[in-house]
Amino acid sequence: MDELQRAYAGIRERIARAAGDRPVVLLAVSKQQPAEAVRALAGLGHRAFGENYVQEARAKQAGLADLDLCWHLIGPLQSNKCAEAAVAFDWIDSIDRAKIIPLLARFRGDRPPLQVLIQVNIDDEASKSGCAPDEVPALADLVRAHPQLVLRGLMAIPAPGDMETRRLAFRRMAALFRQLRDRHPGVDTLSLGMSDDFEVAIDEGANLVRVGSALFGARKRA
Ligand SMILES: *Cc1c(COP(=O)(O)O)cnc(C)c1O
Repeated sequence: MDELQRAYAGIRERIARAAGDRPVVLLAVSKQQPAEAVRALAGLGHRAFGENYVQEARAKQAGLADLDLCWHLIGPLQSNKCAEAAVAFDWIDSIDRAKIIPLLARFRGDRPPLQVLIQVNIDDEASKSGCAPDEVPALADLVRAHPQLVLRGLMAIPAPGDMETRRLAFRRMAALFRQLRDRHPGVDTLSLGMSDDFEVAIDEGANLVRVGSALFGARKRA
């Protein structure tokens, strides 16, 4: 077994242990990893990959076009990148303001609909992207008004800090997620947790976790 294979098996085992019998999706965060790393993981049967930058993702995808992969954008999305992002990704997990919603819908056109998550700035950090928790209902309604988009749920990155504080942030996100799902029954995805806290996130109700360095090792330049 090589290193990636061992890491992949280890992460999946830890996810399964934390999740019990609930299904939890692993999103492999391949930012700043070369295309060959994506190809190697795809060779182990993995399909879902997350990237932070539209440009970097497109360059990588160009060398992987023979593979059937599912790409998520998990980094902040500028308005002037919406045209590219709407066709390069299957999911946009970082919707955090109204302006980009009609742009993504327009540029998606008549392709199969784009799956989207609303990103919440759950710890109200000045430096972080994400909307305020009380903006979620209006953004959700706006997504639902566009047939080119499918509202799937929420994503958040809690402030770095001790694990108990992060756990409370995950818990607030789970409550927000339940409220959203009550209004929009198709909503099914709560994306919380990264390499160093995904088990706590799963424990608090996450069903999609985004793991980069624990899977691929330290980030290099792509
Ligand atoms: C980079 C990144 C990750 C992965 O972080 P690791 O700590 O390497 O697992 C997850 N989510 C987002 C939004 C990221 O930007």
